[in-house]
Amino acid sequence: MNDMTRRGLLGVTAMGGAMLAAGASAGTPVFGNPDRPGQGRTNITNPIAGTEPGPMNPALQGQFPSFQDPPATDVGGMDLFWASFNNAHRRVQDGGWAREVTVDDFPASDAVSGVNMRLSPGGVRELHWHQQAEWAVMVDGACRVTVLDGEGRPQIRDVKQGDLWYFPPGLPHSLQGLGATGAEFVLVFDNGKAGEFNTLLLTEWMAHTPPEVLAENFNLPVSAFQNIPLDQKWIYQGKVPGPLAEVQKATKSPLGEPSLEFVYEMGKLKPLKSNKSGSIRIADSTNFNASKNIAAALVTVAPGGMREMHWHPNADEWQYYIKGSARMTVFNAGPRAQTADFRPGDIGVVKKGLGHYVQNTGDTELVFMEIFKTDRYQEVTLAQWLAGSPPEMLAETLNLDAETIKKFSHIAPGILPL
Ligand code: MN
Ligand code: MN
Repeated sequence: MNDMTRRGLLGVTAMGGAMLAAGASAGTPVFGNPDRPGQGRTNITNPIAGTEPGPMNPALQGQFPSFQDPPATDVGGMDLFWASFNNAHRRVQDGGWAREVTVDDFPASDAVSGVNMRLSPGGVRELHWHQQAEWAVMVDGACRVTVLDGEGRPQIRDVKQGDLWYFPPGLPHSLQGLGATGAEFVLVFDNGKAGEFNTLLLTEWMAHTPPEVLAENFNLPVSAFQNIPLDQKWIYQGKVPGPLAEVQKATKSPLGEPSLEFVYEMGKLKPLKSNKSGSIRIADSTNFNASKNIAAALVTVAPGGMREMHWHPNADEWQYYIKGSARMTVFNAGPRAQTADFRPGDIGVVKKGLGHYVQNTGDTELVFMEIFKTDRYQEVTLAQWLAGSPPEMLAETLNLDAETIKKFSHIAPGILPL
């Protein structure tokens, strides 16, 4: 197609879908399929070109319809922005398990890493600390979290499904499953290299300190430490703990309580957008004050709905899919555009500034979280940008008529349709 033909086709697309359908036969480049040579199934003339006679695993391939049969608007190649906890190896011990996706597994995720952990009732993630901040969302059950702030003041809280916590870098903490079913949660570290299997553990520091130093440090006889474990525990099955008030009393410090709450109830998330098609709710340092280096959004999208076209100017987006099924296309310079499918337990990454939208592809509600290594949630929406651009310029750039341009809104809906 020469440029004259291309302009001609673009010019008639406003006439409606009938033209598009008529033009969508094999080998005919049309609007919605613009690049040359054409990509996508619509450009195949001999159907054998689209088949796959070689080895394949239908169960695995079936999870990725947009990789097998991409929309014709997808163009070029792009670093994989899909990963998952579903195919991550579990470290299982008495009391629970954990699995992780770090930058070693998922090169696109160099800003943050993710951990999925399960603790039985009474199951303990050992007292430990690390150099990275730890953000978390509870995905099931209930958990008791303990933390010591930078001024030596303890805080112990119980969290339930949907609640968040944030431990600043270096602050020591522990986690314990509660109730009849224990806890499951997802952690995000603000460093893609960080992992759950190489944290600084209380047991290991004690075991690797000369006994006489331990004795001197605590002003106790050496014999006081004669039974400490020589190996790490990491996760172990403990006794189900007593009421929160009792342990708070037992650990009360004359220094008082930390000035910041390190846990955040789901109900306090700040509504950003809400309509019949879904909602976006925010927890960043403006409302979850302790969360100084992680901003999060909880997104719901009704069946048939779509998270509108947008990007984030200040950080990469790390997505964690909780419910339903989704399809996301990411756009980059080049041009490059790639579409991928997501299901519960999957992870997506959109690098800072790259355009994207997320569609609900199922018949149930889609729920996912967007995590950013930054203090503030920020987004730029395509619709707001166009509403804020000179109409004549838009008309010249996109060949749009004045009536269409008037319909762009300064108020971003977040989720569509309205
Ligand atoms: Mn930790
Ligand atoms: Mn986004």
